[in-house]
Amino acid sequence: MTTPVVTRFAPSPTGFLHIGGARTALFNWLYAKRHGGTMLLRIEDTDRERSTQAAVDAIIDGLKWLGLSWEGEPISQFQRADRHADVARDLVAAGKAYYCYCTPEELNDMREHAKANGLPPRYDGRWRDRDPKEAPEGVKPAIRIKAPLEGETVIEDAVQGTVAFPNKDLDDFIILRSDGTPTYMHAVVVDDHDMGVTQIIRGDDHLTNTARQRIIYDALGWAMPKVAHIPLIHGPDGAKLSKRHGALGVEAYRAMGYLPVALRNYLVRLGWAHGDAEILSTDEMTALFDLEGIGRSPSRFDFVKLENLNGHYIRQSDDAELVAQVIALLEHIPQGAEIKAKLTDKIKGQFLAAMPGLKERAKTLLELLDGAGFLFSVRPLAYDEKAASLLDEAGKAALAAILPRLEALPDWTAAATEDVVRTYATETGLKLGKIAQPLRAAATGRSMSPPIFDVLAVLGRDEALGRIRDAI
Ligand code: GLU
Repeated sequence: MTTPVVTRFAPSPTGFLHIGGARTALFNWLYAKRHGGTMLLRIEDTDRERSTQAAVDAIIDGLKWLGLSWEGEPISQFQRADRHADVARDLVAAGKAYYCYCTPEELNDMREHAKANGLPPRYDGRWRDRDPKEAPEGVKPAIRIKAPLEGETVIEDAVQGTVAFPNKDLDDFIILRSDGTPTYMHAVVVDDHDMGVTQIIRGDDHLTNTARQRIIYDALGWAMPKVAHIPLIHGPDGAKLSKRHGALGVEAYRAMGYLPVALRNYLVRLGWAHGDAEILSTDEMTALFDLEGIGRSPSRFDFVKLENLNGHYIRQSDDAELVAQVIALLEHIPQGAEIKAKLTDKIKGQFLAAMPGLKERAKTLLELLDGAGFLFSVRPLAYDEKAASLLDEAGKAALAAILPRLEALPDWTAAATEDVVRTYATETGLKLGKIAQPLRAAATGRSMSPPIFDVLAVLGRDEALGRIRDAI
């Protein structure tokens, strides 16, 4: 029987769930799903100064919005500190680690000395074989691991291949500080082991940590989980991802009107490929995701690609679902409260009716909301600059000419209003736009909108005619 796959996402709650973290979480989630396993969530909150509850909440909220789930309650690394300390002391008892009584001054001298001799600042192992009976009075010891002195520490990485670290470069690093708190390196090992993690997938900025973690695993006689270190995300110009490039929190993507399904699709392709498949449903990516498809070079963040994917998923989405998504978005955008206050059942119905036209052109939910702006306007409409110029003398004359014909329509449908305008255009030899554009300006206050005859139908006879009369 093979061991079930267990992955974990292990964010440090020092800020929001940024886009790189979201991708790491997605990869772990997909890998677990692909293999019928589970993903766990561990909050690496040992840095008490920088960890905040607000960040924990933002990370959990971001993961949920993205549709990523984990098994059980999130695990707090900080709350496991006693266990980390016990394991460190067990290592001392087993002769695999030792108490180091160096004072901060001594360590400082050691660093200065190394620097002066052009050497890297490494601990010189002075307490490694010294008798603890020689311990100075009143100095609280730290615990250091006995790292191998010769040879190399080798990591087999699913993405990076075989990576060897000469042991002479790795010193006897601290696993338990003199105040009894575990170092990050040690806590991660103990937690991954206790959580039964079988596969680690994380950013390649952690690759060098893996060598040190391997040393702890070996000292404990524990099997190390398999590892895969994924290249970081870069900006479109190849530089490290910055805010300008899109290194934003997941909630910023939500507020920009991206759909979780589109972001998942975008993120999975950011560093992973299956042939040239660009559009992958969540079921498809779950069935196909593998570590072999992860590339070794950093991927570049591309907003245009994300927008196009989002547009694709908007067009594919059910109309009622899109209305629900836009309404949910109102909670997360500055102008949301004001719009929500205007959102009557009638307008919701009109929004739904207008959706087929709206979603054809929108790339984000914000654009959908913006396109539906005419539903929220109240008479008399404020015209934007372009709309005002469309309502010049000629525009108004055209509207005045078709108004009686529109008023006489027995059925107020898109086809019927379109027929009126087309007939009038044919009779007068005017281009269709010469009538349709002023009509759009009158009905929406703008020069761009969903198809105008749909707009008229959605507004309903009274409101539409009222707006046209106002414009004349
Ligand atoms: N807490 C680390 C981070 O946020 C992740 C460590 C790990 O995955 O082992 O970068």
